[in-house]
Amino acid sequence: MRESTPLDRVAGAHDAAVLAVARRGDPVSRAGLAQALQVTPQAISKILGRLMDRGLIAEIGTVAAGPGKPTTFYRIVPSSRRAIGLHLTRARVHGVVVDLTGEILERRELEIGRLQPVDELIATLTEQARDLAQVGQGELLGVGLGMPGPVDWSEGVYRGSAQPDPWRGAPLRRLLAQELSLPVLLDHDSRAALVGEAWSQPGLLDDAALVLVEDGLGAALCLGGMIVRGAHSQAGEVGHTVVRLGGVPCSCGRRGCAQAEHRAALEAGDEEYAAQVLATVVVDLVRLVDVDRVVLGGRAVYAQHERTMDAIRAALEEGLRAEPWVHVEVMLSTRGTDLIAVGSACEVLEHEYGLPQALVGPG
Ligand SMILES: [Zn+2]
Repeated sequence: MRESTPLDRVAGAHDAAVLAVARRGDPVSRAGLAQALQVTPQAISKILGRLMDRGLIAEIGTVAAGPGKPTTFYRIVPSSRRAIGLHLTRARVHGVVVDLTGEILERRELEIGRLQPVDELIATLTEQARDLAQVGQGELLGVGLGMPGPVDWSEGVYRGSAQPDPWRGAPLRRLLAQELSLPVLLDHDSRAALVGEAWSQPGLLDDAALVLVEDGLGAALCLGGMIVRGAHSQAGEVGHTVVRLGGVPCSCGRRGCAQAEHRAALEAGDEEYAAQVLATVVVDLVRLVDVDRVVLGGRAVYAQHERTMDAIRAALEEGLRAEPWVHVEVMLSTRGTDLIAVGSACEVLEHEYGLPQALVGPG
């Protein structure tokens, strides 16, 4: 992959902005895009020309509306590009291949059964990705891999937990890119999930938190339209905030962490307390970063979602009673169990434009 220059990145961001409007589905016009993106029609012409040269956008016809020049309409070409998304957990790999609009073309799920050593794991992921690469048409841009943290997004390394962990320190991004000869992107499951959800609900999640409850409990933040990562790719690690002093021991060494309390409650069959733990986490998060939407996702949420959503809404109402001007909408993810895999694939699509330096190709 060619090194990108600052000018490429500016052009990439413009192209990405036009594609983001076009992928909402309706045909777009030069004047409509100029208005939506607050740039001149001349600039839009240049961007559209670039996108058409690359086969990403196509002209679909002209419509005459009164006197004057007829309006030309364009639409995105979904089949022009593809990306693969893999959601890795200790138990399984859930994979999807998506088109340029983020629509799923195919999904595959593979139970791993046991904790594989790194070389075996890479072989498993490679096989899954190669299998998905057979589906659909259009250029395959790369593979996004989303997994529970701690993950170093910029280095492409799984940092691992304090427990004995065969994957700790593994440069998963580089190893997988070498095997596949494709660009690979590695990210936290919660952040991939937030990107996936933002693609499903364009423009709605500019100030939002996604709380993900799988084996662990984490969150991802989008503030002012930007995904927040933090100094060590650790922003949003709400699973290790303490909800009960002197509570259940946690793998991190402390006691009463939200993640440990939540898991212990579910294991004891106390769904009400589990829901309260999640509600506490959400209210604290809203207090800390001032978001207007909270999305809940993850396998452990879907099973109990009604009770959990009720508990969170009640806790927010109680917690924000003194500030009636603060409105927070709590939503369930629209993507179900595909959420993290789809989000990982959408991250690859995004980085093709806005931030191409984040993708690391082979060699
Ligand atoms: Zn902890």
